[in-house]
This record gives sequence, C-alpha cells and structure tokens, in this order.
Amino acid sequence: MNDWNIQSRAHACTACEKPFTDKQSFHTVLLDDRAAFRRHDLCEGCWQHDFGSAARDQKGFISQWQGTYEAPPPPEEVVAKENAESLLRKLIERNDPHYIPAAYILAVMLERKRLLKVKEQLNRDGERVFIYEQPRTGDIFTIVDPALQLNQLVAVQRDVAHLLEHGLTRPSEVVPAESATAEVTATPEAEAAAPAEESKPA
Ligand SMILES: [Zn+2]
Repeated sequence: MNDWNIQSRAHACTACEKPFTDKQSFHTVLLDDRAAFRRHDLCEGCWQHDFGSAARDQKGFISQWQGTYEAPPPPEEVVAKENAESLLRKLIERNDPHYIPAAYILAVMLERKRLLKVKEQLNRDGERVFIYEQPRTGDIFTIVDPALQLNQLVAVQRDVAHLLEHGLTRPSEVVPAESATAEVTATPEAEAAAPAEESKPA
C-alpha cells in the first residue's frame, strides 16, 4: 500500500456525485481497504440515507467526521512561497521513502502550529500512522512515523531546516541520517536554521 499520501477534499459527493456548494456541510468516512486508505466525502442526503448508520460497520472503517466544504480560492491566491506545508506536499509527491523522516518532522511542526490537525492515529503493519487534516483545505495527509532515534532526529531536523531554507530542487536532496553529521561541519549555516522557523521568502 501507499503508506503516505494526500487525499484532497472532494468537490462533489462520492455517492451521488452532486457538486458541493460553498459552506455546505458534508461527512468524511475513512476506510482502510489494505491497498490504501480511501476517503469518501458524502453530502448530507447520502449520509442520512445510506451511510450514516452503516459507516462504522463497514469493513476497514477507521474514522469519520463532519466538515464544511469551502469553494477553492481563485488561482492567484493559491500561489504561495515555500513553507512547511508546501514542502511537505512536494516530499509526498516525490513518493521516495527516503523523505519519510523529513515528512514526519514537517507534519509535527505543522501540527504544533495548528496548521494540521491529527484526525486519527493507528498502527498498520507494525508502523504508527498519523492521519492529519489541513483544516482550511480539508486535505488529508497520511504520514508514517519513522520511529527516529534521538541521534537521527537531530540530523533529520537539520535536513528539514536546510530544505526550508533552500527549497527542494534536486531529487534526493535530503542526506541520509548517517552521513548528516559530516554535512554539519561542511555547512555551519544549517545550524542557524531551527526547524520551528518558517522558510524565508526567496
Ligand atoms: Zn450525495
């Protein structure tokens, strides 16, 4: 299964395919079908009719919650500078297991800033998995806990600070935790960038 992913809030009901309107209330059901986590966004009518009572009994049921649909902003507002969230999205898009530790650190940072909320925490094939929601867009981020040792944690935090500072340009830019110590001596400016800092505008 694809362990980490982003599932955006749907623009229409999964069941009846009727488009959501701005500020419309809807219900999200999260199911684990072994291949992936599946998200269903349902309008009030379909929820009441077919899903509400049965959701919890459905095979692979993980979680359900109610949300409010917000129409997407005009395209020009979407363009934003690199920050912890945009970096996290890029790392997940790369879908390179190499970035799992960095993605985890970014998700923790975003949660502390209340820019992501934990919806669910579960164990899957021996790994801890967090389901985060971006409250504004309603996107769901599935993040694997890499179970970092303390010494690895420091190295990954340094990598993340470097990525926030310089952006993700080349593939596999995050150095492996073992070789990160060597990089510290080479790039002392990385120490100045604490992981809690936002990236500077380019
Ligand atoms: Zn519907």
